[in-house]
Amino acid sequence: MYDGKTGTILCDWCGAVLGNINGDGNFFALIRTKYCTQCRQFASAENHRAAQRAYRQRKKLEKKLCMERLDLMAQENELLRQKIRRMSEDNESEGT
Ligand SMILES: [Zn+2]
Repeated sequence: MYDGKTGTILCDWCGAVLGNINGDGNFFALIRTKYCTQCRQFASAENHRAAQRAYRQRKKLEKKLCMERLDLMAQENELLRQKIRRMSEDNESEGT
């Protein structure tokens, strides 16, 4: 977090002073920095967990859709089998 008045860069989470753009020379590196070292580790772990959670949910949904499709195909298959059985029974009774 950048404080325009003092030029101080603070950690977005804990508010720790990361540096001052007027004092320290490395303006661009500082202005990009959002978290202190401690919070950055936590932030990335947190992001990682969130990403993993999203991935798991996506996989779960994919699997669910796949199972639903499989179920529909099994039903369709059964209906077709019944239809074929009926057709062959009709043919048998018609024949001879
Ligand atoms: Zn921090």
